[in-house]
Amino acid sequence: MKPTAAALFLLAAAASAQTIDQRIDRELPSLLATYKQLHAAPELSMQEKKTSELVASRLREIGFDVTYPFGQYSEPNATCYGVVAVMKNGAGPTVLVRSDMDALPVTEQTNLPYVSQSSGVMHACGHDIHMTTLLGTAKLLSELKSQWHGTLMLIGQPAEEVVKGADAMLRGGIYEKFGRPDFAIALHDNANMPAGQIGWFGGYFMASADSVNVTIRGMGGHGASPQATKDPVVMAAEFITALQTVVSRENSPLDPAVVTVGSIHGGTKRNVIPDEVQLLLTVRTYKPEVRKRVLVSIDRIARGIALAAGVPDNRAPIVEVLAGESTEATWNDPALAERLAKALTREMGANSVVKMDPLMVSEDFGRFGLEHKIPAVMLNVGAVDPARIASGERLPSLHSSQFAPVPEPTIRGGIKAMVVSALELLK
Ligand SMILES: [Zn+2]
Ligand SMILES: [Zn+2]
Repeated sequence: MKPTAAALFLLAAAASAQTIDQRIDRELPSLLATYKQLHAAPELSMQEKKTSELVASRLREIGFDVTYPFGQYSEPNATCYGVVAVMKNGAGPTVLVRSDMDALPVTEQTNLPYVSQSSGVMHACGHDIHMTTLLGTAKLLSELKSQWHGTLMLIGQPAEEVVKGADAMLRGGIYEKFGRPDFAIALHDNANMPAGQIGWFGGYFMASADSVNVTIRGMGGHGASPQATKDPVVMAAEFITALQTVVSRENSPLDPAVVTVGSIHGGTKRNVIPDEVQLLLTVRTYKPEVRKRVLVSIDRIARGIALAAGVPDNRAPIVEVLAGESTEATWNDPALAERLAKALTREMGANSVVKMDPLMVSEDFGRFGLEHKIPAVMLNVGAVDPARIASGERLPSLHSSQFAPVPEPTIRGGIKAMVVSALELLK
C-alpha cells in the first residue's frame, strides 16, 4: 500500500519533532561501532592516513563538502592528513568544530574487546571519542538544518599530540580557502569526571608547552681522577636542583608554571666521567610573559652552573627550545564560555554541566583562535564510570595504557554538548 500524502506529512513532522536525545539514541549503535573500529586501529601523529580517510568519507556521506587531505607541515615531504568539511546553510556566522585524530606510542593494557590491534600504538588520549563525537554532531546538525543558519566548518585535525597539526592546517591556508570562522569550539575527554558530564571554564584553560633540550657539557676522564675533569654528571645534578627555584622563587605563586625534567642521560660506565649529559625538559605556563621568563631562567641557570664549575666558554651548555614542539596556552574566550555554559545548562541540566578548574596539560586547539582574535572554547566531557570515582581508587590518567573511557555516556554527552553549542551559535 502506498502511503498517502497526509501520512508522509505526519511522518516528516514526527521526524522533525524528535528531540536531540532521541536522535542521539537512534545514531548511537552505529556510532559505538565506529568508535570501537577507531579504537582498535589507532595511528600515530602525522600517520593518520586510514583514520582521516574514514572521517572524511563519513562526513562526505552525511552531506558535507569535504576537502582532504588538507594542510602543510613545515617538513615539505610529510603529508598532512587534515580533513575540512563545510556545510553552508544560508546567511549567518561560521562555526568551526574541531576533533583531533592521532593516537600515542603507548602499548594498550586494557582488556577491552576492541583493544588496539596496532602494536605499541593506542588511543590513550581519547581522540577516538572526539572523532566519534564529531561524526555524531555532523549527522544531527545535518538533520536539524531548519534550526540553524550559517556555515559549519568541521575539522579533523592530525598531529595534536606533537602540536603540529593545527599549525599545519593554518599554514595550508584553511581560513583563506574556506573562510575565517566567527567561533571555534572543541571538546576533550576528561579522565577524572563522570562519563557524559560537561566541564567548562573561561580564561586560560590549558597551558603552553615548550620542549627544551639541555646538553650540559663538561670534560670527561677517569672516574678515579675527577680533578682532571669537569664532571657534567655533577653539574646536571646541580642544574636539576637549581631548576626547582624557577617556579618556587622567581615566579609569582599566582601564576601557574611547571618545569619538569622528564629524561636524563649521560655516561656509559661507572669509572668513566662522560663528556656530556643530556636532559629533556617540558615547561608549562599560562601567561606569555611567564613563559618567556621561565625559558630565559633555564638558560641562565645552565650557564651559571657551567661557569661556577669552571667550564670553558667553548664547552658552555647548549639550551635549545624546540620550535616545532611548542604551543601557546589555550585561551577559552570568557564571554563565549559563559554563553555556551548557559545554553548547555538549559539543555542538559545543572548536574550535567559543571565549571571546572583549568589544566596544566597542553593542546594546539588554541592556534585556531589566532591569538585570541577568534573567540574559541574547548569544553571537556567526563569519560569515567561514576562508581569508580566514588570508590576513591586511583584512576588512570589520559595517556595511560589503562585509560578506557566508558563509550556510551561519554559520546552521548559529547554529541549533545557540541550540537547544543553549535545551535546556540548559529540560531
Ligand atoms: Zn594527549
Ligand atoms: Zn588529547
